[in-house]
Amino acid sequence: MDVLTSEQRSRNMAAIKGVNTRPELVVRRMLHSRGFRFRLHRKDLPGRPDIVLPKYKSVVFVNGCFWHQHAGCKFAGKPISREEYWNSKLARNMARDADNISKLTELGWRVIVVWECELRDADTVATRLANCLKQCA
Ligand SMILES: [Zn+2]
Repeated sequence: MDVLTSEQRSRNMAAIKGVNTRPELVVRRMLHSRGFRFRLHRKDLPGRPDIVLPKYKSVVFVNGCFWHQHAGCKFAGKPISREEYWNSKLARNMARDADNISKLTELGWRVIVVWECELRDADTVATRLANCLKQCA
């Protein structure tokens, strides 16, 4: 089922083009304002995590619900057209995500995933992130 409006779709399309997308900026700002210091897109880590917090041995991925197929999320609906193309493309994305997460975990990193849809309630995300990071400080 295709539940995205064309506006949401084009936003998603823009988001995959890469770094410094808006949801990521939102998360960076919320961490920064709470005193967390981080580095961005460390190329030496699997999956080039969006946000890296070395002091907390944690990385944060800010995932678009469509591209990373957020389970059970209404924003993760697949397009109706070119179903096979999307199925295999999105399956590859999910496999790559899982692979990166297991590699990072093996390297001793805590992996935190923030979904784009969660940012509609940014305060809750901020609290969750801060609690999670403080636990592993
Ligand atoms: Zn979602």
